[in-house]
Amino acid sequence: MAKRILVAGSSNIDFMLTTPYIPAPGETLLSGGKYAFTPGGKGANSAIAAKAMGADVIFCSRVGDDAYGDRLISLFNERGIDTRYIKVDRLEQTGLAVVMLEKNGTNRIIAFSGANSKISDSDIEGAFSAYPDAVLTQFEIRPDAVIAAARLANDEGIPLFVDAGSAKADFPLEKLERVEIFSPNEAETEILTGIRPDNLENCLRASISLCNRVDIKYVVLKLGERGCYVYDGKYCDLISPFDVNVVDTTAAGDVFTAALTTEYLRTGDILSSAKFANAAGALATTKLGAVNSVPTLEEVKNLLENKF
Ligand code: ADP
Repeated sequence: MAKRILVAGSSNIDFMLTTPYIPAPGETLLSGGKYAFTPGGKGANSAIAAKAMGADVIFCSRVGDDAYGDRLISLFNERGIDTRYIKVDRLEQTGLAVVMLEKNGTNRIIAFSGANSKISDSDIEGAFSAYPDAVLTQFEIRPDAVIAAARLANDEGIPLFVDAGSAKADFPLEKLERVEIFSPNEAETEILTGIRPDNLENCLRASISLCNRVDIKYVVLKLGERGCYVYDGKYCDLISPFDVNVVDTTAAGDVFTAALTTEYLRTGDILSSAKFANAAGALATTKLGAVNSVPTLEEVKNLLENKF
């Protein structure tokens, strides 16, 4: 039976504009490319990716009482996500992210939190009445809400998975208490530990530094085109990336951690799950957009079996 994952996190509309380069201050640049309004937000990306990878997903989030909020909830329903714990906030606008995407696939994002900033402890507590088997959260919501999700997961004795997306240096990691998998990308690793994971020694130092602050079973560092690094408190492994044509790296990290969580809950095997997540993350870079770039389970399996 599919595992039930409670995703506690943000929902946004992404306004995406492609550009040949980032304009200098005062410069007006004609993009010459395309723009799009697409669904996104780390919580939404994770929820949709976990569902696509085969989990049953309960999504706890907030949107504004506006057309963007309606559109997001319709999309989550279409994808088969349990939306009973998404609140429509009458006082706030739906979250928005302005994404500037350069030709080489690099993105720069300015996010407006809106309704996401009002996701409360009691929103998350309410979602536990759906009896999740695991909790997956990220740092794109209030720190107190992340800590509440962690406390409730630990109290219930269900595993907690943390994607360190949007991590801030002053987040009190100690308050997470016990984490099954903690997964930051390179920038987030540096923000949280002061160590850039640019070589194996630094990956190990950063992982140890995280484990010294919080009881983490597995640290999985997302290393972009270098794949990922797994540390279990004793042993470490660098898991090779898949070779793909990169179009847009938006949401690769969210897809990676959602796939890692889903596959790990299915198999209990961290190394094969990390390989699975590498395939899902790589596929996410081959398409434009956030939610739109979430691969299917079949695509991930085909890449793992080297069928293109
Ligand atoms: P984020 O999107 O949070 O910055 P990363 O860039 O590290 O995170 O990407 C997450 C994962 O996606 C990586 O660990 C890797 O598995 C996969 N990935 C990202 N970029 C590439 C790439 N250029 N080639 C192959 N896989 C990639």
